Amino acid sequence: MSAHSENAPGQDVPFWGPDFGALQQEDPEIAGVVLDELERLRGGLQLIASENLTSPAVLAALGSTLSNKYAEGYPGRRYYGGCQVVDQAEEIGNARTKALFGAEHVNLQPHSGASANLAAYAAFAKPGDTVLAMDLKQGGHLTHGSKVNFSGLWFHAVSYTVREDSELIDYDQVRDLALEHKPKIIIAGATAYPRLIDFARFREIADEVGAKLMVDAAHFIGLVAGKAIPSPVPFADVVTATTHKVLRGPRGGMILAREEHAKAIDKAVFPFSQGGPLMHSVAAKAVAMKEAAQPAYQAYANQVIANAQALAKGLEAEGMRAVSGGTDTHLALIDLRPIGVTGGEAEARCDLTRITLNKNAIPYDPAPPMKPSGIRVGSPSTTTQGMVESDMAEIASLLARAVKAEHGTTAGDRELADVAQAVSALVSRAPAYPRG
Ligand SMILES: *Cc1c(COP(=O)(O)O)cnc(C)c1O
Repeated sequence: MSAHSENAPGQDVPFWGPDFGALQQEDPEIAGVVLDELERLRGGLQLIASENLTSPAVLAALGSTLSNKYAEGYPGRRYYGGCQVVDQAEEIGNARTKALFGAEHVNLQPHSGASANLAAYAAFAKPGDTVLAMDLKQGGHLTHGSKVNFSGLWFHAVSYTVREDSELIDYDQVRDLALEHKPKIIIAGATAYPRLIDFARFREIADEVGAKLMVDAAHFIGLVAGKAIPSPVPFADVVTATTHKVLRGPRGGMILAREEHAKAIDKAVFPFSQGGPLMHSVAAKAVAMKEAAQPAYQAYANQVIANAQALAKGLEAEGMRAVSGGTDTHLALIDLRPIGVTGGEAEARCDLTRITLNKNAIPYDPAPPMKPSGIRVGSPSTTTQGMVESDMAEIASLLARAVKAEHGTTAGDRELADVAQAVSALVSRAPAYPRG
């Protein structure tokens, strides 16, 4: 076999794959795509708040023969033979996850964050029941009641908002809506909310109306793992999450739950909403949990927050406005109205300089959803590359130059080319997936 990667330790290990030489030989077209994506990651700045750069160990588990195994069911209770080996991956993963989060029960099988949420809904509610969650326009997720998603089609979704003045969750309104609508489930957690969430307050409200409290920690579970922010686990009936955002594991989902809900959650994942688990991904989740339990990961999680704060500060210094005045987490929501640029324009201009980010609505956005007034920026990927606050200050200044450069004018295009060059120089100092 040819070397499975440039930096693979121990060529004598009898590991079958990932063999990039085989891919190149059999399918040069897709091998080219894989290499192009690696080059894209290496050549630019990834500021998408929901992305990260997984370790070679996680990638190796993902590219393993565990992908072949059918293992419907749970360890020791499978519907297929030959599961003794993959059972160990799930058992080890479950034990590590429980220890890392102090959780009573864990399910690592959800294929994604959305699948984890579907299962949590199914465990606690029936179609037509009421669910109270954050307004999508203000940072809630598709699975929190969107009309094009199961959550909005099959459930009666009521939305709470942030306060217009502080741009923080309006807990009084959450309580009022809970008392009025008597939801089966209250969901705390969002996809574009830069601040800490008061889980104790949500617990109080849920208890007052007899609702289950589901914390959708998809975005910030990695910061909890790294002990950089408070954990929702002691307060929630169930915590759903992804494993690929700040947590830096494989793309996938997971559920943490109180023991009393263990059966309902497991049944809601399999057989209700999924078939066979992705055992290669479960194994890779186990690897990520081991990594996240290290002191180095805790330092990483704290640096992620310091970097997001430095980035938000730098962008404010360039005349933009950080929603809620800043961030306590890995992401910032930036209002571009003060500099007269739309989120879409900013995203497109940054793209030309290989700064990757996404346009995003801001709370009470006066612009239509397809032309939002802001961008969302995050620090998980750049921090994995080893960048620190001073790099973030430089990124803020490059980002601002890109956003303010009028694409299509001679001066604007020259400025974008200059910024692209500076981005290239910056990432070559702290590259993603460094060579050898
Ligand atoms: C990312 C995210 C999800 C969904 O994760 P997928 O793996 O993309 O399905 C769910 N909830 C929130 C709050 C998220 O940010």
